[in-house]
Amino acid sequence: MNAPFTQPSFRDSVDRMFTQAASLMDLAPGLEEKIRVCNSTYVVRFGVRLRGEIHTFTGYRSVHSEHHEPVKGGIRYSLGVNQDEVEALAALMSYKCALVELPFGGSKGGLTVDPRAWEPNELEQITRRFTYELSRRRLISPSQNVPAPDMGTGEREMAWMADAYKRLHPEDINARASVTGKPLRLGGIAGRVEATGRGVQYALREVFRTPEVLERAGLSGSLEGQRVVVQGLGNVGFHAAKFLSTEDGAKIIAVAERDGAVMNPDGLNIADLQSHMHATGGVKDFPGASFEADSVKALELDCDILIPAAMEGVIHAGNADRIHARLVVEAANGPITAEGDEILRQRGTVILPDLYANAGGVTVSYFEWVKNLQQISFGRLERRQEEARHALLVEELERLSAHTGLGWTLSEGFKQKYLRGADELELVRSGLDDTMRTAFQQMATVQAEDSRVPDLRTAAYIVAIRRIATSYGALGL
Ligand code: NAD
Repeated sequence: MNAPFTQPSFRDSVDRMFTQAASLMDLAPGLEEKIRVCNSTYVVRFGVRLRGEIHTFTGYRSVHSEHHEPVKGGIRYSLGVNQDEVEALAALMSYKCALVELPFGGSKGGLTVDPRAWEPNELEQITRRFTYELSRRRLISPSQNVPAPDMGTGEREMAWMADAYKRLHPEDINARASVTGKPLRLGGIAGRVEATGRGVQYALREVFRTPEVLERAGLSGSLEGQRVVVQGLGNVGFHAAKFLSTEDGAKIIAVAERDGAVMNPDGLNIADLQSHMHATGGVKDFPGASFEADSVKALELDCDILIPAAMEGVIHAGNADRIHARLVVEAANGPITAEGDEILRQRGTVILPDLYANAGGVTVSYFEWVKNLQQISFGRLERRQEEARHALLVEELERLSAHTGLGWTLSEGFKQKYLRGADELELVRSGLDDTMRTAFQQMATVQAEDSRVPDLRTAAYIVAIRRIATSYGALGL
């Protein structure tokens, strides 16, 4: 039997990781404390009349750091939401935005609610009321605090929040920029829903382009055929698993969900599994897969890459020594506790830390916010002009070829690709890819250049803390 253990709180874990990185830096006296602490947390309790009686809900919005404004961070709907969790997530947002160079401070919010226990029209009432409470305190605003989706929320909730904000501030021409992750027709941006999972894919591609990191993880070759285990088939886990399997040839050998885990050593079809989940409410009885009721056991399977994409604290002192994957990608926020992290590091496991691995969501949220402020979609002005210039070049090449008698012809495939101007989705993916590649190389360089930096997580914190410290310096602190 395993020895009993107590887990550090989520905030303790984040703070310990921060402190470890800060101890390797030469920060001005008091600055470490200033960056680490959470500036403020607002707790609200409000009542909504539903099903013939008043139900009281508790909501949070925590602002970790305002070195850049607006501050940015998701809104989580879950019964587990609490102040410690929201503050840990807000801190991670500050570090994440700094790491991928977004002009935001960190914030996070949550509502203690089980979204599956309420009908859509009831959830809408709850969400609109929560938005009103946030708006009264300027905790939602295009220039000061911009929420986004997180666990238990998505486009639908963001549309309600944006609409509620607009009704409260009809004179604000930038009202759409008060929330990101909105549906496309309500001021959202192409590629936001897939963004976090897409970012996980781009992060993994960069690992496979970086021999020294790949070697450290004991992996080789390409993503093709790599055996992957995913925990959580929600927004992040689904898109990551789908793209890795259908576009890079990875094999998703197991998916762990609330009701258990399904496994197939030849790989699961992720789109079919998602349809099965929508139809039945869980992964159990998915055709062609074996089932394990103890879901967390799937984390311990023999595999190449483990992607926890559900929730925090799932790898800890009690199970870290049974994790077989050599590469763990923290698609969720905080899936590994500080103690679990220490054990994995000693075992030589390579970890892509949350502040990097799941930064795709906030990166594309940034693009959406910019789009809303500029009131025009990306590519609208230049797309046809770009196509016309490309057509000019192709026509000239063909004319020259005919004129000189060389007889060169451009392949149809090339022409089609080259002639087409980029649409918003392509531009968003390009910007996301660039962001994930650049941040990865910055982390890898910090680790390579300083032998005291033990892992990519510490390197990521160092890059982020340096940038926040510079911002505070510019503010005179
Ligand atoms: P989601 O609600 O869409 O999906 C979460 C999934 O995890 C669901 O399918 C749920 O059934 C499953 N799950 C819940 N408890 C589980 C358990 N005990 N075992 C296995 N599966 C379980 O949430 P999401 O938006 O995909 O977020 C997942 C994680 O990614 C969170 O940590 C979130 O903070 C982080 N994240 C999300 C985004 C985003 O853009 N949505 C961005 C960055 C980070």
